[in-house]
Amino acid sequence: MTDESTSDAGRDFIRDIVAADLAAGKHKGVVTRFPPEPNGYLHLGHAKSICLNFGIAEEFGGRCHLRFDDTNPTKEEQEYIDAIQRDVRWLGFDWGEHLHFASDYFEQLYTWAVQLIEQGDAYVDSQSLEEIRSQRGTAMSPGVDSPYRNRTVSENLDLLTRMRAGEFPDGAHVLRARIDMASKHLILRDPLMYRIRHAEHHRTGNDWCIYPMYDYAHGQSDALEEVTHSICTLEFETHRPLYDWFIEKLGLFPSRQYEFARLNLTYTVMSKRKLLELVECGHVDGWDDPRMPTLCGLRRRGYTPEAIREFCREIGVTRYNGLTDMVLLENALRGDRNRRAERRMAVLRPLKVVITNYPEGQTEELEAVNNPEDAAAGTRMVPFSRELYIELDDFMEDPPRKFFRLAPGREVRLRYAYFITCTGVVKNDAGEIVELHATYDPATKGGDAPDGRKVKSTLHWVSAAHAVTAEVRLYDHLCKVEDLGKIPENEDWKTYLNEHSLEVVNDCRLEPSLTAVPAGTPVQFERLGYFTPDVRTSSSERPVFNRSVTLKDAWAKARD
Ligand code: ATP
Ligand code: MG
Repeated sequence: MTDESTSDAGRDFIRDIVAADLAAGKHKGVVTRFPPEPNGYLHLGHAKSICLNFGIAEEFGGRCHLRFDDTNPTKEEQEYIDAIQRDVRWLGFDWGEHLHFASDYFEQLYTWAVQLIEQGDAYVDSQSLEEIRSQRGTAMSPGVDSPYRNRTVSENLDLLTRMRAGEFPDGAHVLRARIDMASKHLILRDPLMYRIRHAEHHRTGNDWCIYPMYDYAHGQSDALEEVTHSICTLEFETHRPLYDWFIEKLGLFPSRQYEFARLNLTYTVMSKRKLLELVECGHVDGWDDPRMPTLCGLRRRGYTPEAIREFCREIGVTRYNGLTDMVLLENALRGDRNRRAERRMAVLRPLKVVITNYPEGQTEELEAVNNPEDAAAGTRMVPFSRELYIELDDFMEDPPRKFFRLAPGREVRLRYAYFITCTGVVKNDAGEIVELHATYDPATKGGDAPDGRKVKSTLHWVSAAHAVTAEVRLYDHLCKVEDLGKIPENEDWKTYLNEHSLEVVNDCRLEPSLTAVPAGTPVQFERLGYFTPDVRTSSSERPVFNRSVTLKDAWAKARD
């Protein structure tokens, strides 16, 4: 039943456990939760957890709560709470009325702490955190009992009451569970439950100056909400005995914890702490910088919820910690875009071509297919005239043998237009190519020669007089190394950031229909990739496009 493989049906070991529990009548229905700490924006790792938790609830007819794990007053903010809700909704999930906050349970958690003291299962320790840590022992040796471990119940209750009342400074006392300093589970060696922190909380204000630790708050919050399957990442496996201990000692709803492997992706970072560092040091332009693996960054980059959900489905859920290839994410987007994005022509680095036998002042409209994958997308008209732009690197004056694109004397096809033959090269005083001359064959209108003659390549182009000037942003990996996890601790991981992760191309020429693309709409620039207008900076006067992902190389091969 704890088979670690994922099967074709989208089943995994966690879904198998849920199915078996329901079949055995263990629970009336399945309840899961997604429990972010509101100290940053959501990233792809969270998307994996969201898809798993909300997905299970949907598939098994249960419900999934969104619970903010807001027990750390100093790092949490309303901005993050709002952003997290926006991102979960955007991904396509709904918690209904089950929006919860661990901070709503502070009073209940405190009452239970009192209960544990009364049962002899908790005590106030007045040692420093360093002392406590030094007494913990190791996997090989037992820990040492605190000299305060045998305080009386009334002494403990008195101290806890005064801790709550604010009588003591930070660090003066802590509340600890009284379990077993020799336990083989290090987590059970009298773990901390509360510490004093005179800090304002974003929701409870100054009501509290003691705050519960994650381990004390999390399982009890699950139990309060009657979460049946509390799904978390593998690093919490060692916490499970404590999770179970609190529930048992307090006699609560029997929530159970299950662990799966967290998502790590090649060439990027997947930790809020590091992502925050990038934002704060100005390495990126905010949490929604299109290079960030955050959901808002991916959205701005042009990723869709469908593509991200497909990616999560594809990678599956296992108990094996690994590194997932970024290509899987990109392919999920390509699949989605290929079906849905309309094709357009855009020239990133323009080179002017004058068609010398085309009448001056004449313009004609040529029909272009919007999406060969979707006949319903129809066609559009594209203006053609005597002066055009093609891509600078689609021409070589002295081409090597395998270069099949435009060269002096050579004939190529202009997509949806005509065959043209290069007849001349115009250079400036510095010897740089500034313009090409060419002739067109009027008989090849639409892109086919009636005499059946073939050309070896097809180029995209735009009419110079009709083109719109735009900025295009091309993105590369955030990091230069595949696996940041392999960087030694004593090195600054930021030295492995890719300094070429953003390339701004600011004199691109687009076909005129691209001025009217609403922000967020995907388009394919033929041969160049999938793009979307930048939500922050794009305007109809000056469109700005983000490249979401390059095309699969099928076209690239065909063109050479
Ligand atoms: P980070 O390490 O990025 O700071 P976190 O675990 O501290 O993340 P939380 O807000 O506590 O972030 O996470 C909410 C939920 O998302 C948790 O259940 C956590 O296990 C899960 N989660 C976080 N990162 C990943 C990941 N990389 N892959 C899968 N699940 C993740
Ligand atoms: Mg966490």
